[in-house]
Order: sequence, then structure tokens, then C-alpha cells
Amino acid sequence: MKTLPYLDIHTHRRQETADAVSVECLSLEELCLEKPPRAYASAGVHPWWLEDYTEEEITKVQGHIRHLVETGKVWAIGETGLDRMSPEFLEKQNELFDWHLDLAEKHQLPLVIHSVRSGSDFLQKIKEKKPTTPWIFHDFRGNEQLLRDLLRLHPKCFFSFGLSIDNSPQIRELLPLVPLESLFLETDDQKHLDIHDIYLRASENLKLDLEFLKAQVWLNFKKISRILE
Ligand SMILES: [Zn+2]
Repeated sequence: MKTLPYLDIHTHRRQETADAVSVECLSLEELCLEKPPRAYASAGVHPWWLEDYTEEEITKVQGHIRHLVETGKVWAIGETGLDRMSPEFLEKQNELFDWHLDLAEKHQLPLVIHSVRSGSDFLQKIKEKKPTTPWIFHDFRGNEQLLRDLLRLHPKCFFSFGLSIDNSPQIRELLPLVPLESLFLETDDQKHLDIHDIYLRASENLKLDLEFLKAQVWLNFKKISRILE
């Protein structure tokens, strides 16, 4: 029997694995080239980049992102978001998030979201902006209440987990409470983390058969892709 591929919804690595499909978050250099290395890519200004690049440079990158989106080269917008650990850039982060959100809505693409201590900001954002496309919270670190509130306000919210399954007792407790149809897994920027291991840990935590878990996550990915077709 042919087994399904492992789906890595959010990675910054360029490591090809024969039995995995990844949504590759493009680096600044790749954005400037406007040529995603593989089929599934996401394009966005990471909130942390505000610390390292001038406003002029960021504006230039936004132009590349817009071009990539308009020429149909990306599967998702992001990662973008709000990081309250970098509060000095919060206003600009917020402005940039709205820009990504508008782009996602205009082109009906999912948003990959970076959220650090910003759960209530996103609840407010949903109330204000009434998004229609999927929101994928990568490396979700919220609690059960936030998860339920987000899903109630925007049922197309998805939650992705990676290293935290290993190193966060709170996430190990939260994971079984995430609806399976809203779940994704990821390697993010972890160089030594294998997507196979993440699936293995998640399947142990959820007491699910590994192939069943792969099939469910694959279905979620297909569903998003179909929503958008
Ligand atoms: Zn990331």
C-alpha cells in the first residue's frame, strides 16, 4: 500500500525529504529572487525583520511579495504576525499584519501567523476584519480558551505544532484538545528536528495510528487548498 506523505505546514529549511511535502517559508533572499524553490511556498515579512531592516528595505520586500502573489507563485501569505516580545515594533508589526491580511483576502490565500503573547490581539482582529481565508497559527502556544475563542470567531483557524510537543508540558496537554480537522505539524526553523519525529510524538500524544494522523493532516491541507480553488 502506498503511504501518504508527511505534510510540514511551515518550515524555513530547504531539505528535500522524499516522503514529505513542505510549505516553505521564503527567506528574504528568496523573496528578492521571486522564484520559490518548490511547489508550496509562503511569502511574508517576518515581524522580527523589523529589527534588522530599514523601512525602505521592507517596502521593497513587500513589492516582491505582491509580485509573487499576483503571479500565483505562493500557496500562502506569511509568516506575518504580532510578537509582544518585541514591543518597540508593535505598531509597525500591526500595520504590516493588516497589509498581509488584505493581500490574503484579495487573493483568497491562507495566512501563516506568528503569534507571541498576542492571542487577544488576534481575537480583536477577527472581530474587526472578519477574515474569510484560513488562518494557520504556526507554533501555537495559546491555551484551550484561546483556541476555542479563535475557532468560534473564525472556524477556518488552524493550529500547528512542532518542537513544543517535545519541550512544553502545556502543549502536550493542549494537543488532544485541538480538533483533528484544525491540526497541522511543522519543523519551523529547527535544523535538527525531523518532521517524521514530530508526527511520531504527536501520534503518541494523541494515541492515534501514525498513518491515520498523516491522512488527517493531509486531508486538512487538501481541504484548505480546495476551499481556495
Ligand atoms: Zn517560522
